[in-house]
Amino acid sequence: MASRTTMRWTLGCVTAWLLFGAAAGLAEAAGYRTANFLVDAPTDALARAIGDAAEQYRHTLALEWLGAPLPRWSRPCPITAQVAPHLGAGGATSFVFDKGEVFNWTMTIQGSEERILDSVLPHEITHTIFASHYRRPLPRWADEGACTTVEHPVERARQHRLLIEFLTTGRGIAFPEMFAMKEYPADVLPLYSQGYSLARYLIERGGRHKYVQFVGEGLATENWSAALAKHYGVPGVAQMQHLWLDWVKQGCPAPPASLAAAVSPQPANWAPTARGQSPDAAAPPRVPQAAPSPVTSTVGRQSIYARQAGRSLAADAGSR
Ligand SMILES: [Zn+2]
Repeated sequence: MASRTTMRWTLGCVTAWLLFGAAAGLAEAAGYRTANFLVDAPTDALARAIGDAAEQYRHTLALEWLGAPLPRWSRPCPITAQVAPHLGAGGATSFVFDKGEVFNWTMTIQGSEERILDSVLPHEITHTIFASHYRRPLPRWADEGACTTVEHPVERARQHRLLIEFLTTGRGIAFPEMFAMKEYPADVLPLYSQGYSLARYLIERGGRHKYVQFVGEGLATENWSAALAKHYGVPGVAQMQHLWLDWVKQGCPAPPASLAAAVSPQPANWAPTARGQSPDAAAPPRVPQAAPSPVTSTVGRQSIYARQAGRSLAADAGSR
């Protein structure tokens, strides 16, 4: 039986909520072992591509976020991959926190080869980097939001489109509530798109290392307003919501050059290092600008919308 300090932590990522299991039994599995991963995929070539990309992301993303590579894990993280051209992209990673340690990793990923390599894998690997660094659970918005910033521009643009939909249909989450959330809400999709948007806002203004320091301070003190004030000069969570919402209403403009110059690297510069052959590697589609209402962003969020979200997400995933 687990001790009181032991906690298995699972991060179910986006379409994983809806689509896991859809591709079971597609093909014979093949295995591939790297220093830190043990990959189970439909073919030898896919297992090798995923394992090599996972190692590469583990190295480059740890440098991006932490400024130093992670030490080798004592046991490899098993990755089970379901790969098919029209499979919705998603993943889930779980691990155990115990007495300040993190271990017993497992990762399940699915999607097209291209999306696995350019979005799902870097997203899930970023979860493992945060878990290795903080050795404790992060607020869901900060974890999922940051992990989404390393996805392919097409996926990030999709999150932004969903954000505008949520904000204009009363499904936004008030920041005091979002900052206090330690579990996924019933209406989970707005948490992803809003978390991504806020993480993007903060990272564009301070870089990834400062984001990691900010989250670390918030975790240690549980005073997120003080952490925002210290690292971003924003006096509190409610003020953060106000600033962020204004920024979204203006179409998410880039920060002033003086601020951006101090940030390296910026999310816009992030280029996945293990892309597959991609027909849509060009610029992401332009996102229509909308004018979400600050009133509807904080009210009317009820679980009745979760089923709508499921339908629209399933339709979206199925069309990719
Ligand atoms: Zn995730």
